[in-house]
Amino acid sequence: MTLNNIEIDTLVVGAGQAGVAMSEHLSKLGVPHLVLERKRIAEAWRTGRWDSLVANGPAWHDRFPGLEFDLDADAFAGKDQVADYFEQYVRKYNLPVRTGVEVRQVVRNADRPGFTIETNQGVIRANRVVAATGPFQRPVIPAIAPKDDGLHQIHSAAYYNPEQLPEGAVLVVGAGSSGVQIAEELMRAGRQVYLSVGAHDRPPRSYRNRDFCWWLGVLGEWDAEIAKPGREHVTIAVSGARGGHTVDFRALAHQGMTLVGLTQSFEGGVARFQDNLAENINRGDENYLALLDAADAYVERNGLDLPPEPEARKRLPDPACVSNPLRELDLAQANVTTIIWATGYGVDFSWLQVDAFDANGKPQHQRGVSKEPGVYFLGLPWLSRRGSSFIWGVWHDAKHVAGHIATQRTYLAYRDREQRTADEQQPSISNVSTFGAH
Ligand SMILES: Cc1cc2nc3c(=O)[nH]c(=O)nc-3n(C[C@H](O)[C@H](O)[C@H](O)COP(=O)(O)OP(=O)(O)OC[C@H]3O[C@@H](n4cnc5c(N)ncnc54)[C@H](O)[C@@H]3O)c2cc1C
Repeated sequence: MTLNNIEIDTLVVGAGQAGVAMSEHLSKLGVPHLVLERKRIAEAWRTGRWDSLVANGPAWHDRFPGLEFDLDADAFAGKDQVADYFEQYVRKYNLPVRTGVEVRQVVRNADRPGFTIETNQGVIRANRVVAATGPFQRPVIPAIAPKDDGLHQIHSAAYYNPEQLPEGAVLVVGAGSSGVQIAEELMRAGRQVYLSVGAHDRPPRSYRNRDFCWWLGVLGEWDAEIAKPGREHVTIAVSGARGGHTVDFRALAHQGMTLVGLTQSFEGGVARFQDNLAENINRGDENYLALLDAADAYVERNGLDLPPEPEARKRLPDPACVSNPLRELDLAQANVTTIIWATGYGVDFSWLQVDAFDANGKPQHQRGVSKEPGVYFLGLPWLSRRGSSFIWGVWHDAKHVAGHIATQRTYLAYRDREQRTADEQQPSISNVSTFGAH
């Protein structure tokens, strides 16, 4: 069925968790809307993650309020279980999602309010557009990547399992949650692994019988509105793999992984690393210890009965690769056949041709409400708070954005006395055009 000539109040682009949350809140507020998804619901969880990936947070935390996972509350849902969860959510709330429809262009109408939306299945008109196309759309590989056809190079988004890689050692660049988990999986599969470690936060998986998600919640960290100065681009190294464990770079090195500093350049088959490995690891420790201190203070202040855990403060000795770090690596000599770039993602809003971006193409908005009236963003990192790009956080941002839309509709539905009188005389005519598929 073509979508040609459909008119809808609000169009939501993307049916990942952000689009699903948005649709739930719009439904609750009675806003007619449609969600268009170019592939399948929660496609990123289906095909954009490696095979063994589990959620970073336990099932009781990484979910929406309206549905629990069919799992032990402290277990970590596998990536397909997360995708199934959002499919189930759409069914439970009977949300108007159309899959297999790509939005190709959105432009503001010149001669009437609203937007014209071009899709691969026809042209739609909408009063409002919510961009819920994800925080991590375009894998980013830095320009320093060597131009060497002999090396197998992939982004972490294209990594699925150790078997897909050619034999040989692997250099993983980036030690956030993706890089460190992939590096550990490869090491456990018998690969020689070099892991390039930059600045990172490294919370304990759990402390005093509480997961770090709980600690970040009660300490107000998920709700932090801005990143600490200088830590805006700092990645967080956590893992739910194998039941969940604290990421400990020294332990990984003692098990055989070679840690190196930030990757600086490649030249003539030689990789060079910055001399900052120990500093990065020590700053990660500081972040780890700061959370333990804040947790202890919280326990004391509130008189909680949570068992002390002094062993969490023990530190392994520095492995040789930290005390005497490699500054360069001849890739052929080290038999490195693969580089995995766990270097993050960018966004791509080329389809959204409206006045909602700064000169660098960065969305301009306040808690998701764009400076271009009628355009909204959802799911972006730090949209309103630290938790904004995560499962539980996007649900709360969606509530705010849906509330803004409902309020705007109230303003636009207002009729002054003269208009109301005219309406009463001609009851069949209404100026409010909010019909749609819902
Ligand atoms: C490796 C990894 C692990 C993560 N683990 C966790 C975790 O454990 N817990 C957690 O809370 N968060 C986690 N996140 C962060 C976040 O939850 C996910 O990135 C999540 O997928 C973001 O959801 P979203 O709906 O905002 O975006 P996406 O899931 O990316 O959804 C956007 C959707 O929009 C669609 N789309 C894009 N462009 C168009 C278009 N033009 N027309 C139509 N459709 C379009 C896409 O197909 C996609 O389905 C993780 C992220 C990564 C990268």
